[in-house]
Amino acid sequence: STGAELDAAVIAADHSRVFHSWSAQAHLPAFSVAGGQGATLWNHAGDRWVDFSSQLINVNIGYQHPKVVAAIKEQADILTTIAPSTANLTRAEAAGKILSHAPAPFEKVFFTNAGADANENAMRLARLYTGRDKIISRYRSYHGNTGAAVVATGDWRRIPNEFARGHVHVFGPYLYRSEFWATTPEEECARALHHLERVIQAEGSETIAGILLETVPGTAGIMVPPPGYLAGVREIADRYGIVMICDEVMAGFGRTGSWFAFEQHDVVPDLITFAKGVNSGYVPAGGVLISSPIAHAFDERVFPGGLTYSGHPLAMAAIIATITAMEDEHIVENAADVGATVIGPALTALADTNPIVGDVRGTGVFWAAELVADQATKEPLPASRMAAIKSACLAGGLIPTIADNRVHVVPPCVITPEEATHGMQILADVLNEEAGR
Ligand code: PLP
Repeated sequence: STGAELDAAVIAADHSRVFHSWSAQAHLPAFSVAGGQGATLWNHAGDRWVDFSSQLINVNIGYQHPKVVAAIKEQADILTTIAPSTANLTRAEAAGKILSHAPAPFEKVFFTNAGADANENAMRLARLYTGRDKIISRYRSYHGNTGAAVVATGDWRRIPNEFARGHVHVFGPYLYRSEFWATTPEEECARALHHLERVIQAEGSETIAGILLETVPGTAGIMVPPPGYLAGVREIADRYGIVMICDEVMAGFGRTGSWFAFEQHDVVPDLITFAKGVNSGYVPAGGVLISSPIAHAFDERVFPGGLTYSGHPLAMAAIIATITAMEDEHIVENAADVGATVIGPALTALADTNPIVGDVRGTGVFWAAELVADQATKEPLPASRMAAIKSACLAGGLIPTIADNRVHVVPPCVITPEEATHGMQILADVLNEEAGR
């Protein structure tokens, strides 16, 4: 059979047997991938795409990094699985590698299978450590698909899943669509902090265990916080004895152009959750970085939580190799550089000239272009036109991430300036054509 026939057969087989996430099962995208390398993917028919999605914004190191693939194979020959309670060299080394990029107060790592269960356990730690009950998170956020994580989530996915209790939501800073009638970043920052503090007081500050926030909200629209916002959250958390949890599942491990996003905001949280970029999903893994006071609160007290695959050796080997390759090949620096020299300028040029580009924002390889039908009213571009943009990008050789009325430009951190320039040209052509409709 031809490659195209194989792609069609794969799609038909998948759609007939695989039950898909977040989807009506009769309306699935028809897209098959056969392989990839770096920032490029291809199908069986031989069509190739520059990947501006990193899948679910997790393949920071790109596809098939040879050193990570080799490390997984090597570990498979040594030991493929071991219980969490058993000391294991690969796990201890992976924890050390992660901690080496975290600031001083971080002392231990609790490993999970992914990001949602990292947030579950961070919220649990905050609750046990403070003896308090409620978690504050933001409306514009995604924290994962499990019990408390999905209820901490701000977007529509929380609403049909609201079975956990003890969750309160606030609005965060988002100047383009300010909830606070702000016209400057300074106003937006001060008013968002005032709102947060008033909610804490109104809920009863002695009931709030933790504030859980994506350092840079990702899925919700890549809103880089205004200067001073995270430091303000830190100050409020300290004043009320609340644990500050930074969800770095999407923002961490190079995505923003630094190892952790909070480094760019002069702030140190009490707990950090991570997954995705820690090993680019080559083997599922996530976890919680725990600062000393919280870690030592469980020296004598039992931590009531665990997972069969916590610190799985194949995932740990992938973490060590991923972080080592990112260090050796300056991949985090590359993300910062490509963002500053290619993606940022290209998006800014589009915003200046293209009437459907309402706002662009981002850092590193973590950017969003917000598309509008009308610059003045900021009316979001309708779903039908977003779908047309997605199809045109794919036809042009680019995999975009489309979220509501936004295009997120979130390639692997290894993307070269040339590949990023090529991808931005495809995107610009598509958006300019769409603006002419
Ligand atoms: N937190 C953030 C910020 C995320 O973006 C995601 C996934 O997109 C999660 C948590 C959940 O991670 P996972 O899907 O690995 O459970």
